[in-house]
Amino acid sequence: MSRLAIIAAFLCCSSFGLAAAQDRARFTVGTASAERGQKASGTIEVPAGVDAALSIPVAVFHGAKPGPVMAIVAGSHGTEYTSIIALEKLIATLNPAEISGTVIIVPLINIQSFEQKVPHLNPVDKKSMNRWYPGKMDGTQTDRASYLITKQVVEQCDHLIDLHGGDLDESLRPYSYWTKTGNEKQDQISKEMVRAFGLDHIIISADRPRDPQASRYLENTASTRGKPSITAEAGYAGTVETDDLNALVNGCLNVMRYLKMLSGAPTVVEHPVWIEKVVTVASEQTGIFYPTVKRGTYVEQGMKVGYVTDYLGKISFEARAPVAGIVLYVCAVPSMTKGATIANIGVVGRVP
Ligand SMILES: [Zn+2]
Repeated sequence: MSRLAIIAAFLCCSSFGLAAAQDRARFTVGTASAERGQKASGTIEVPAGVDAALSIPVAVFHGAKPGPVMAIVAGSHGTEYTSIIALEKLIATLNPAEISGTVIIVPLINIQSFEQKVPHLNPVDKKSMNRWYPGKMDGTQTDRASYLITKQVVEQCDHLIDLHGGDLDESLRPYSYWTKTGNEKQDQISKEMVRAFGLDHIIISADRPRDPQASRYLENTASTRGKPSITAEAGYAGTVETDDLNALVNGCLNVMRYLKMLSGAPTVVEHPVWIEKVVTVASEQTGIFYPTVKRGTYVEQGMKVGYVTDYLGKISFEARAPVAGIVLYVCAVPSMTKGATIANIGVVGRVP
């Protein structure tokens, strides 16, 4: 028995991984209600309030055998297409007869972002749909959707995977996040989850909110409620490339194998690059952006990562890496405004 298997056997069967769903004959999320061994689709209905109502699609796979409840969510940012399409593919792939436990899949939260091709925000209320958790019912659409996802999805799951990627204006190389909550047992499981997900660059986030009532991010809403969870990103700038897509789909399947929700031995990424800090390079000028690095480039401190010109070609700002590290993403489009992100650089840290 490998170290991983021992940890899985010990931890998953102790205080984690045994949700309320364990003995449920039926599992319901929103209007999707599945009997054991069945799948169901439906919606989480966000009622109208100060602004419009929203129907968030949800699929439930209530496995033939009992086990943990895994929630997999994408599309908080509706133009991070690869993550959304990955969950469409997962919905078509999963078979409840083969699952031990229950899988909740929410492939697209931010529907207006997707339909109107608006990056970063929900165009209805101009809020990022991954910053307002745990949400509230007397707020705008994003607040209400966040509240209902907290109640219907987060509170009903044992583990959560939140999928993202480079948005329309972000050229991003794949990476995942491992949140260190300080709860050693929980962190050990989420660390094995992130290694099982398989992306070879992992950001250690130790500065995320600890208060479940001010969790802001979806993953932290689960983490601060004691549920080992991870975030993963792949895809960039409106593209849906096969390698990125497969990385996300296979990552989810492999985490399910680690949690013994699917049969087969999980593989883990052997020696990932652990990133201890992310440093943002912001533009000091508005104008036209020209990158001089690509996503995934390793840069030395002081190296030029791009420059900005005015609209007649005169260079107004040279962007340099303030630290040595890897370009996690670099702005993918020429549009640049003062204060906007030119690149995010990951500083390689020690193996945790
Ligand atoms: Zn995102």
